[in-house]
Amino acid sequence: MPEDNVIDFATEKIRRGDHMVRGTAADGLIRAIAVTARDTVETAHQNHSTSSVATAALGRLMMGALMMSTTMKSEDELLTLQIAGDGPLGGITVTANSKGQVKGFVNHPNVWLPPNGRGKLDVGGAVGSGSLTVIRDMPGAEPYTSQVGLVSGEIGDDLAGYFVLSDQIPTSVGVGVLVNSDTTVRQAGGFLIQLMPGYDDELIDRLEAALTGVSSVTDMLERGMGPSEILESLLGDFGYQELEVSPVEFHCGCNHERAKRAALALGEDELRDMIAKDETAEIYCHFCGKRHYLTPDELRDLLSDKD
Ligand SMILES: [Zn+2]
Repeated sequence: MPEDNVIDFATEKIRRGDHMVRGTAADGLIRAIAVTARDTVETAHQNHSTSSVATAALGRLMMGALMMSTTMKSEDELLTLQIAGDGPLGGITVTANSKGQVKGFVNHPNVWLPPNGRGKLDVGGAVGSGSLTVIRDMPGAEPYTSQVGLVSGEIGDDLAGYFVLSDQIPTSVGVGVLVNSDTTVRQAGGFLIQLMPGYDDELIDRLEAALTGVSSVTDMLERGMGPSEILESLLGDFGYQELEVSPVEFHCGCNHERAKRAALALGEDELRDMIAKDETAEIYCHFCGKRHYLTPDELRDLLSDKD
């Protein structure tokens, strides 16, 4: 049987869960990424007991980080996005790696706001105005950090603004989270489309026209479209070609050993004090909401290992 006729079962399996697709169009002048991530965002919602508007804000930034992580140069690179805003959410922090794993939290997960003028979750109002910081961490190198002001606090515009201001790359980002009345996540997805060096004004105009008036990502997901169909519908007229399909998930690498290292950071005096009072240390992981407990005996071992 010729190889072209072999169904790629592994890829088909990936497509049934949260996943990302990466593609290209206009002879390589357009780079495109799209993601569907309902379970990933629902995990964040459950881990942090986020309100609906907090789920939407966190989910949008997590999906932005996942899509941006496909542009990383090294497999070992870590990408962290931090939003600091003057709105009631306070701030959002997410980290994604090159394996499609993402984690994140908001400073104030219980924020409730009435819907905005369009009847949608008021993410912009919850975030407020402030800044977006992008940190690229490479092992053995100084982290590369750059910061831009927020455009609207709606996350998609802010990520696009970052690429335009920081990297001079014309970029369009759409990210959306649709929440059920019981606050669980119904749909979550996004796309990121960029122009690569060599484009001309005509291509910009055509792309702008193609992206004007498209329905929201969550509308497309509700109609049963996946990331591949979304990019095909946006870029079909530009000779869209899919390059890669890969799984995404919420994943935090915290564990008991890392909790011990975090406990050491509390300082020797604090640890001796807890041991004296026979207290169990609780190390809370902000990224996934897990609590790690260290017994007084373990704390004692930590101090003796240190000497
Ligand atoms: Zn964790």
